[in-house]
Amino acid sequence: MIIKDVKLLDENFQVRDRMNVVVEDGKYLSITKGMPDPEGREVIDGRSKFMMPAFYNTHCHVPMTLLRGYGEGLPLQRWLQERIFPFEAKFSPQYKYWGAKLGALELIKSGCVSITDMYFDLVDYGRALYEAGMKANLGNGLVTFDEDASYFEDNSYKDTMKLIQWIRDNETENDGRIKADVSVHSEYANKEKALREAFAFAADERLIVQAHISETKTEHEECKERHGMTPVAYFEKLGAFRSPVVAAHCVWLEDEDIDIMTAGGAFMSHNPSSNLKLGSGIAPVRKYANKGMRITIGTDGASSNNNLNMLEEVNLAALLCRGQSLDANALTAADMVKAATRDGALAQGRTDCGLIKEGFRADFIVFDLDKEHLTPDYDTLANIVFSAQSSDICMTVCDGEVICKDGEALFIDEEETIAKAAESFKKVLESL
Ligand SMILES: [Zn+2]
Repeated sequence: MIIKDVKLLDENFQVRDRMNVVVEDGKYLSITKGMPDPEGREVIDGRSKFMMPAFYNTHCHVPMTLLRGYGEGLPLQRWLQERIFPFEAKFSPQYKYWGAKLGALELIKSGCVSITDMYFDLVDYGRALYEAGMKANLGNGLVTFDEDASYFEDNSYKDTMKLIQWIRDNETENDGRIKADVSVHSEYANKEKALREAFAFAADERLIVQAHISETKTEHEECKERHGMTPVAYFEKLGAFRSPVVAAHCVWLEDEDIDIMTAGGAFMSHNPSSNLKLGSGIAPVRKYANKGMRITIGTDGASSNNNLNMLEEVNLAALLCRGQSLDANALTAADMVKAATRDGALAQGRTDCGLIKEGFRADFIVFDLDKEHLTPDYDTLANIVFSAQSSDICMTVCDGEVICKDGEALFIDEEETIAKAAESFKKVLESL
């Protein structure tokens, strides 16, 4: 494939005009000013288009699309006890598959090719993402309420091992698209022994650790009462930061937490919609970034967002950062786009993704610039962050494969997926 005469975001996050990009075997073969010999390749007209790396969403619970709008307005504990836990007890692997496929539709239409996801029945719902042509880092979030519980006897471990086996069995075809992470729900939903074991397992197997950290002020303060230290310090004590960590939310980090996260090379997943909707607060990302912490962006699940639109999340993150820091250039449009693309890919251990660069995997999106709200095209990145809508994305490409074109998913039967998802939700409700 050749994208001809296209405006693009280069590897230094600079906008460049009239470039020609050759994609071959899933990677960028060349990115040049001059038009290369087409050699029988499909040529796509890139005029009035903008090409940039696709989004990597670093915190999601994708099957929870089926819980969208279920239990609105309840405080966290009542929401969990009265709504989420009873629902999840009846949430079969097949229903999760349809929930994940519904989520995949939303994700790829809004330019996301890869998610870091925490849920259960990883192989079952991971298959929906895989079939959609996406990538994912999947982890079964450990929850332990018993002091003596062992990670190695928990379903979190067993489910992760099942996924690792699936990845081994499908090594060639999968080609690193689906990955296994070690996922622990949070400090407050676990006991020390199981956490230590999970972190040791992650370090031994060189796996990424996913966790919710300091999402609410209450959770943060209660951890200090329980353990005499913050959630980040507690996780460090238990060995979490021997592995690369992707920490979701991080609304209430203290100065030492930032130092630990930065020294450990951890990534924060900034989830602004969810944090606002659940009344958790606004994470001070400019302060974190200034201290060298690596910021990425995630939607969180559809039960607390309520959609999976990464472009909307980038827009909100940029606005909040400026409003909170009283600085109109607190983090630039390019900083925000980098957080949602390259840094997200790095948080998923995808070192050859997230940049339009020769030799890198071709994960990209194309915006149609011929829109009233994108005219004039004077500052393209500002238009993308502050004005563009996800419906302006006319192409989503993962590993060189077009997975969504002109708003239509190419590997998902949309009508069937929407019908099955709605039916799955209805069946769970009827069984309660
Ligand atoms: Zn979450």
